[in-house]
Amino acid sequence: MKAPIEMVVLDEEGDTIQCTVKDIFVPIFEGLLAEGNVYVVTNFGVALNTIKFKPTRHEFRIHFKRDTIVRPVQDSSVPLNGFNFVPFKTIQSESKEDGYLVDVIGQLASKGNLVEFTRDGKPSSYITIELDDLEGGQKLRVTLWQSFAFELLKYLEEHPSLTYVVILQMGKMKFYSGVMGVSNTNYNSKLFINVEFPAARDFFARVNKLDPVDGQGIMPLVCGQPVSDEEDFLRLSVYKTIADIKEHNQDAVFVTAGTIKEVETEFGWWYKGCKKCRRGLRELDKKYFCPNCIRDYGFYEPRYIIHIRVIDHTDAASFVLFDGEAAKFLGVSAKDLRQSCVTKGVEKNSCPEEIHKLRDIKFIFKVQLKMRNLNSYEPYVIHVLRMTNENSLVSAFLDKYNPDTGLLSHENSELLSLSTGPYNTSKACESEPTPSPAVDEKHNSKILGAKKHIEEIGEESVSSKSKKGKWVVVED
Ligand SMILES: [Zn+2]
Repeated sequence: MKAPIEMVVLDEEGDTIQCTVKDIFVPIFEGLLAEGNVYVVTNFGVALNTIKFKPTRHEFRIHFKRDTIVRPVQDSSVPLNGFNFVPFKTIQSESKEDGYLVDVIGQLASKGNLVEFTRDGKPSSYITIELDDLEGGQKLRVTLWQSFAFELLKYLEEHPSLTYVVILQMGKMKFYSGVMGVSNTNYNSKLFINVEFPAARDFFARVNKLDPVDGQGIMPLVCGQPVSDEEDFLRLSVYKTIADIKEHNQDAVFVTAGTIKEVETEFGWWYKGCKKCRRGLRELDKKYFCPNCIRDYGFYEPRYIIHIRVIDHTDAASFVLFDGEAAKFLGVSAKDLRQSCVTKGVEKNSCPEEIHKLRDIKFIFKVQLKMRNLNSYEPYVIHVLRMTNENSLVSAFLDKYNPDTGLLSHENSELLSLSTGPYNTSKACESEPTPSPAVDEKHNSKILGAKKHIEEIGEESVSSKSKKGKWVVVED
């Protein structure tokens, strides 16, 4: 039995759709299809695009049937490469690895060493590079595996040059050490180095305008270690002011700077967490149920959940600080602090003095914006993923993004009065105190809508009208 053929096809409008020839039909079609040719295809089936890694954002996929008709045509109106370059900032603002594959272009800024290892008895290797979008210091981390890594190294060796423009077509978004980057997929991705496609003309023009002495050449990249605060805050994440974060109406990840003006003690400061996974436990009859471990425990571990009011030169917002970062800064675990409260006889619902150590300190934060109910007063929640008040890092950050630092250092009554009140998270704290993948209701309803549509038209019986497309075989 032959392996199925997976293709991405492109029409004259530049739109793409994935296209599959099932294994049993491969002998019928394999001799007819070649990458780079233009075909008119009629009588094919259509299904929802629900596979895990989606090479296109098209809602549907095409699959060939036994009686699908494929006719090659001469047509130059279809472009050769359907690049759809995604800005680095768009990728780095993503809060989850979604299944859509992306095209990226950038100048090779730094390169790590080839890392070789053995997994399940098989040798494997990868190389990490950073691409520069030449739009002001933004770098994207790209991991190239196996043959893609070899291809890059071979090219660099054989073509000594001051600058390399790297295109990774159909890469997948991948979290690495809390930073969103891109890596190749085994079968879909393509790597192009210094190939001046028409779609890449603007970028090459920008590269050619660079001053030759202006820091060109490839920097060494130290890999295989967690991404440091410095790299994360200064190079690999997207900065937004608090006002801009509040305006953003999608799940996203940003870095920002601000001063903690107050700890919102009315929400408490700790929750009953799972000892194993930190999720909030549901208490029932002296037992504690963990919805993540899906089991009952007879005990819980106190974990931090601290609501802080953060102000910058544009606005103020409530951030939620969780166990890891809070314990790191306060220097005491929630469990120990809770214990000392009990020992000292601190009133049950009041906040220990230690928590207020956070007040009036300027931090830089990496935050995750999670949308909740769009109709509520504050339709989002802002979780702190990472924070630091390390002096040199905060100054470098402020130097780079140049917020009006004067306002950060002192109370600004006008801004505080402008700011919106704290949102009510008391309910959410009980049920979901730790970050967890939120159900994307909008997305779900869209899929349901599409499914309904498919059922109405009948999946297998779709007989499409004649459709012209350029068929690019990317996997076989
Ligand atoms: Zn658990």
